[in-house]
Amino acid sequence: MIITLAADAPTSTSAALLDAASALRKPARTMPDGLGGLIVAIDGSLPDDLLHGPGIRGVHRQHRPYVLASREHRERTVVTVGDVRIGGKDPVVMAGPCSIEGRDSLLRAAHAVRAAGADILRGGAFKPRTSPYSFQGLGENGLRYLAEAREQTGMPVITEVMEPDQVDLVAEYADIVQIGTRNMSNYPLLRRVGQLRKPVLLKRGMSARVEEWLMSAEYILAGGNMEVILCERGIRSFDPATRFTLDLAAVPLARQLTHLPIIVDPSHGTGVRSLVGSMAVAGIAAGADGIFVEAEPNPEQATSDAAQTIDPDELYEIVRRSRLVAEAMAVQLSQPLAHEEVRDLASVAD
Ligand code: PEP
Ligand code: MN
Repeated sequence: MIITLAADAPTSTSAALLDAASALRKPARTMPDGLGGLIVAIDGSLPDDLLHGPGIRGVHRQHRPYVLASREHRERTVVTVGDVRIGGKDPVVMAGPCSIEGRDSLLRAAHAVRAAGADILRGGAFKPRTSPYSFQGLGENGLRYLAEAREQTGMPVITEVMEPDQVDLVAEYADIVQIGTRNMSNYPLLRRVGQLRKPVLLKRGMSARVEEWLMSAEYILAGGNMEVILCERGIRSFDPATRFTLDLAAVPLARQLTHLPIIVDPSHGTGVRSLVGSMAVAGIAAGADGIFVEAEPNPEQATSDAAQTIDPDELYEIVRRSRLVAEAMAVQLSQPLAHEEVRDLASVAD
């Protein structure tokens, strides 16, 4: 059950609810509602006579299974990394090479994507590759290069972690820890990053339902890490013309269901360089809080995912168009059209 407390509820009210839950051996947790109030989430129910105390605003026995990720009791979460706000007004651009391949190439890519308008640098040091014989990433050396790129450019960095035992190492270097599509249901890994006090970007599993994705986010939130960013990166479909199918409908759908920020990845979502720009901008038009793009100065030479990697000029163009779309969507008409006018315009169109 969920109990919502008003902003002016005394701490004794939440303490009494948590004590009552603990006496009945029902795990319970609290989370701010983003408006100064508190959400108390209890696995199971408390009897009515224990649900009193000043400041109780609502008692909900029926709710979605992803209690902490749900938008039922919290409108929006903004994740702040350095001076970048993810889930705020402006679309955020995360860009960089698929894999970190060396110090010089990463530094060159970092400066180039920065100049093209990126806010956050991406790059894989531990790579989940379909073949065990493919390049698996530079490991900790890659993380060191990433930290150097952050120092030189001032951009926060995001990189993937694949194993619970690597979480401490990756978190030491990364500003945002990335969980890849292949690990969305790796529950020990989700639990482990739930213990971090650092943002986590959770990619949607390539065959996962939106509800399963939100339940995975719930694992991280339940560990006390409230800084979760969702990333739609395409799902498996039947047409080999694209690598995956970027599920744009999942963006407004997730927006309706959760308060967490949502990013789209048009690179993995298409697998085709020439489609990345259109789908990035479409993602922003669908309401995403930002984009996650593979970009570097020499895309053709990339060891991994060359076919979907764009160059900095194209990234610049995507950033420009994304900002225009985001601004256009935020524009309030100073003189809203009257209904009659809309109808008149419609009849002209007929
Ligand atoms: C990546 O972004 O580097 C990556 C491997 O993506 P995904 O997990 O979506 O395949
Ligand atoms: Mn990739």
